[in-house]
Formats: sequence, C-alpha cells, structure tokens
Amino acid sequence: MNKQELKARVIKAIDERKDEIIALGEEIRVNPELGYKEHKTAALVEATYAKLGLEYRSGLAITGSKAELPGAEHKVRVAVMGELDAVVCPEHPAAALETGAAHSCGHNAQVAAMLGMAMGLIDANIMPELAGDVALMAVPAEEPVEIEWRQRLREAGKISFLGGKQELIALGELDDIDMTVMFHSTSTAPNRKAVVGGTANGFVAKFIRYHGKEAHAGGAPHLGINALNAAMLGLQGIHANRETFQDADCIRVHPIITKGGDLVNIVPSDVRIETYVRGKTMPAILDASKKVNRALKAGALAVGAEVDIIEIPGFLPRVSNPL
Ligand SMILES: [Zn+2]
Repeated sequence: MNKQELKARVIKAIDERKDEIIALGEEIRVNPELGYKEHKTAALVEATYAKLGLEYRSGLAITGSKAELPGAEHKVRVAVMGELDAVVCPEHPAAALETGAAHSCGHNAQVAAMLGMAMGLIDANIMPELAGDVALMAVPAEEPVEIEWRQRLREAGKISFLGGKQELIALGELDDIDMTVMFHSTSTAPNRKAVVGGTANGFVAKFIRYHGKEAHAGGAPHLGINALNAAMLGLQGIHANRETFQDADCIRVHPIITKGGDLVNIVPSDVRIETYVRGKTMPAILDASKKVNRALKAGALAVGAEVDIIEIPGFLPRVSNPL
C-alpha cells in the first residue's frame, strides 16, 4: 500500500471519530487547568489511552504522559505532542471560576488532535505498515508562568525547569525520540490556515522579592523600610534602561507585581515581582538581564531595603531552519 492510500485511510478513520475527538477537546476547554496542575486533563488523556488499548507511562514531569504505538519496524521514533495547560484569562467565557484559567491558547485542540491522530492510526490499522514507532506525549506546563509557585516546586525537588518540555528533556523522555510534531493554533494569521517556521524570543524568568521593615504607616512610617517604594524605584530603573535596548534584539521586559504589601496601614515589608527578560539572542538576553538586575538592586539601595533575585532558565531563542 502506498503512502497516499495510507494517508487516505487515516483521514477517513479520523473523520469517523470526529464527534468524539471534538468532544474531548471541548471537555478539556471547559475544564482548564494551569501548568503542572493539569490533573483532570491528564486523567482524561490517560483514560483515552486506556480505551485505545495503548501502553503508557504517566506522572512524567508531574502530569505528563507518554503512550506507545509500535510500528512493524523500529527504525525511527516520532513523538506527537499535546500541551495540557491553560493560561490565566478570567474574562474568557469558559474560564475556571476559582483560578481564572482558560484555554485562550487553544491547547485543548492540540490534545484532542494528538488523541485523534492516535485513533486514526489505530482504527485504520496503520502501524503494521510503518517502519517506525509513534509516541504520544502529553506535555505539562507549556506556559512558563506562576514563577514563584514553580520555584517552590523546584526547591522541593519536584521539577527543575519552568516548562514541561524542558522537564521532559531533563528526565530523558526525549532521548529515544528522533523527531517531534505538534501544532499550535493562532489568531494572528487570520487569512492563513497554517504558518510554518518563524522565530521566537528566548527568555530568562525572574522572581524578585523586596524585604523592607514593617511599621505603622500612619503613626511611625519613619521606623519602617518601604519595600513597595523600593520595588517601584526598581521598576522605574528598568524603564530608564529601555532606551538602551536595540530594536534588532527584540528585548521585552514585562514585570508584574504579585504582592504589593499586607495591610494598608502597615508599611509594606514584603513585595514580590515576576518578570521575563526576553530577547532574540542569548547575548542580548544576558545584556538586558544584567541591566534589569542592576535597576532592581538600585531600588533597594535607594531606601535601604534588601532584594533577592532568583533567576530561572526560560527557553532558548528559536530560529527555524529554512524550508
Ligand atoms: Zn500556547
């Protein structure tokens, strides 16, 4: 049987399961979970592996899994990935009430497509025709967010990296894989059905904590050290460096304050910031990162506060090979 006939059989088999595949994607869409917490999504994926009679391993990088579709021979192994996590977008119509998580990034469609692909290969009995194996990989935490919480997971030895793919690489789960395939939906190319290649910024993530000294904000502010003022000066210092970032390096620094104080009548002594420093090349990222740290420290210095800056590797810049 030639390649075209095999493809036609798979497509037909997938079409026949269309409703089931879309229902899986919908179930994930209305049950969005953030990275490394995708327990319900992981359970649904694993239940589907089981229904399809696939051998699999679960609990990889906390919520990830890997299922096997062996071919007639084992010359190459291709992994098809599906990302499990959602992002925080509380205004999304299907956002989770408690967490604000939503599948604004469309990962629900990816996971459904990964499972649908497996259904097509199995129903059409394609694997005995192939000289290589296929592995399904459900990947946690595509979005490197909730930096402080993930830093605690790192300190507890549960993960080493912010992102699930990095974690799976570190665990050796890609050592036996020759090629990986996945897709990501986009809203930025409305007139095109697919976009191949492109580049993406790399980044370093930072969790920043300013330590000041509590005092009554009305009665004795002179006895306190205001960590929020230190943080605001640090952020201003970052802005003062922006004119030194060069357009060609695509530097992006976009901090958020995740904790600004405790009570309104207490001088803030615990202020926390998360940020990325993104850029097109590693030298550009390192240069901007150094300036950001310098600015953050200057904020602390100005008011006599202390600052801890925890840096966590993000992703390397991506440059695709020309087609
Ligand atoms: Zn995404």
